[in-house]
Amino acid sequence: MFDVVAIGAGMAGLICARQLRLAGYSVAVVEKSRGPGGRVATRRVHGTRADHGARYLEPQGDAVQALIDVLVDRQILKLWTDSVGEFRQGEISFIPSSCYVAPAGMNTVGKYIAEGLDIWYGRRVKAISRTDSQMWRLSLEVTDDNLELPQELIAKAVVVAIPAPQALMFLDSEIGLSPDFIDKLRSVEYDPCITVMAGYSAARNSDLSNLNPQWKSVSFPDDSDLAWIGLDSSKRIDPQQPVFVVHSNANFADRYLETTDLDTVGQELLDRTSEHLMPWLNQPEWLQVHRWRYAFCRNPLPVSCLPAEGTLPLVCAGDLCGDGQIEAALRSGLAAASWVNSQLQDLPLSLGL
Ligand SMILES: Cc1cc2nc3c(=O)[nH]c(=O)nc-3n(C[C@H](O)[C@H](O)[C@H](O)COP(=O)(O)OP(=O)(O)OC[C@H]3O[C@@H](n4cnc5c(N)ncnc54)[C@H](O)[C@@H]3O)c2cc1C
Repeated sequence: MFDVVAIGAGMAGLICARQLRLAGYSVAVVEKSRGPGGRVATRRVHGTRADHGARYLEPQGDAVQALIDVLVDRQILKLWTDSVGEFRQGEISFIPSSCYVAPAGMNTVGKYIAEGLDIWYGRRVKAISRTDSQMWRLSLEVTDDNLELPQELIAKAVVVAIPAPQALMFLDSEIGLSPDFIDKLRSVEYDPCITVMAGYSAARNSDLSNLNPQWKSVSFPDDSDLAWIGLDSSKRIDPQQPVFVVHSNANFADRYLETTDLDTVGQELLDRTSEHLMPWLNQPEWLQVHRWRYAFCRNPLPVSCLPAEGTLPLVCAGDLCGDGQIEAALRSGLAAASWVNSQLQDLPLSLGL
């Protein structure tokens, strides 16, 4: 039995769990995938790593700034670029912006916050109910081959730190949640994104050093398919070959969300970038594609977190609450920790990063 269970090891669930753990509560985090970070994600590809989720941390507000300060100090993050490109009508213009990245992969941000936490990886929460002794019971589905952990968890309080449509798979009125609470969750919508990671011949390095203007990050505000491209290999310490990461926009992702042939979709995105930027971008040595069904929250709720009234302690958190993506997720995780604390023992809380 735990004081608190956080569902989801993304930015919101991790920061919330960390704060409550440091205050002295017993806390478990349940995560369906194999590692921490959620959408702040990195994949091992062809002997290197590529950030296929969040591109970088930029000072969006106090929460991200505090994280950047600590992680730069610990040499986990470094400044990647201080200007980002925008492609319009055949030209790239630059906007000042400080972008911080992790040479070992953006998922090291999650790994850092996760240090010391009891995280149950490879477990998806599939149902939640109330016990006779007024606790929450979480039923877990095994999503990897780690069979050692139990398939049930009991807790006094639950933090649901996952996208709203995934939360609605197990949150309903049968466990005492009000229609208003459920309606608020149902109102939250997300834009999808298709990400392609592509590696090129090392011989292309000379083309890159002759680029004019030089860029690492370019967004496409007016394109019908593309949202962003980044030179991912320039984040690494000793890159062996150029690697680019390309994000589609929501229209493109909506069109291809259910397709089974993701490689063809990835190639189509590279074809589009090669029309605008270097022609050879459509000839990678390898490519991998990832589909994000819930990439960006389109209409977040104007609250710092969403507590359920009139039942056992349960609160939703994440980028569905407040503006600013990673900033919103962190703030919301902190707000959820504070609310849970007010329902349990009201212990002193500190950020403790
Ligand atoms: C391609 C892409 C690029 C982005 N770029 C940026 C950027 O540059 N800047 C920025 O600020 N933001 C960016 N974002 C958005 C940012 O990543 C998110 O806003 C933020 O990470 C959300 O954090 P979260 O904790 O709310 O949710 P998530 O990161 O989604 O974490 C939720 C976690 O819960 C797990 N989970 C879900 N359901 C269950 C279940 N039933 N049981 C157990 N575990 C479960 C998931 O596996 C996941 O690990 C980007 C997102 C994407 C996809």
